[in-house]
Parts: sequence; C-alpha cells; structure tokens
Amino acid sequence: MRQLGAESHQTLVERARTVEAATGEWWMLFVATYPELGTAPHPAVEWLSRGSTAGRADLLRWVVAFNRPMLRRPDGFRTILPDTVVHELAHLAAFRLYGSRGHDAAWQSVMQRMGFAPTRTHTLDVTGLPGVQRRWRYQCGCGEVMLSTTRHRRIEQGQRTYQCTRCRQRLVRAPQERTG
Ligand SMILES: [Zn+2]
Ligand SMILES: [Zn+2]
Repeated sequence: MRQLGAESHQTLVERARTVEAATGEWWMLFVATYPELGTAPHPAVEWLSRGSTAGRADLLRWVVAFNRPMLRRPDGFRTILPDTVVHELAHLAAFRLYGSRGHDAAWQSVMQRMGFAPTRTHTLDVTGLPGVQRRWRYQCGCGEVMLSTTRHRRIEQGQRTYQCTRCRQRLVRAPQERTG
C-alpha cells in the first residue's frame, strides 16, 4: 500500500490514479481474507463529480465510485483512502458473500474483519465542494435565518431584499463565524 504524506503536492489526476491503484490493492486484500471472493471480477472504479457523498457502491454493475473533488483537499484524500475505499469495497464483498445490502450486520462484520470501524458516514466538512449547497447567515428581529447562495447573491447585488416571514423585519447579513 502506498503511503502519502500530507505535505506531498500531488495533482488531482495523480491522486485519482493513486486511489484507483489502491482500490485494486485493497480488493486483493479482501480476496486474501475471503478466498470465496477470488471468483468475482475486480471492481471497476468510477468518479463522482459533485455532491457530499464520499463514495458509492453499485452492486449490480460491480463498480465503486468516489468523490473526485474531495481529492483536492488533503483531508478529503485521507478520508477516501483508505476509509471510503474499504467502506465501498466491503459493500461489494458483503453482497457477494452474504447477499447483504446496506449497512447491515454482514457488512459490519466484513468491515471489522478488514480492521475498520463500521461507520456509515464520513466526518469531512463538505462546505465548498461542487454540488453542495452553501448557506449564508442572515438575521432578523427573531433570530437567524440561513439563505441559499442564489438569494444571498440577489441581496449582495442589490436586486432585492427579503423579510422574515414572522417578524416582517428585513433580513440583514449576520456576522460570519470564522472557521479557522
Ligand atoms: Zn455505505
Ligand atoms: Zn424574524
């Protein structure tokens, strides 16, 4: 398994290739652990171009897909490799071995046998990824309201204003929280 330091400056293409190669290597480890999987074809790798999902397994097409924009960030890259790679391959393995679908006991047992915690979701901050709706903080007389980027832009460009549906006050931009 190739190990990559956070300081290594790889391009997105190189990172994608690394994930593709590592997926094949991880699948070999699955086969070594569960020899019955040796009769299954090697899973193909596809890429998701948007959204907050780190990965997906297509049981019928025998494909695992990973979120390509996440690879740009070192923390996203570290989430996908190895956690998401193993998570999605475990879906294929558990389906082939036990007819498992979803995050059931069979899938969990495969994850544990491969040395991973059977968690359903990643904890990566997905703000700013393509296809992830950003929300903007505004306030009125009764509290805070989150607006979509479309509405936020209309306000910023002076095209229109919005009022709170309860207190009827005009929504104004709230102080933004600093996030590191
Ligand atoms: Zn899953
Ligand atoms: Zn209000």
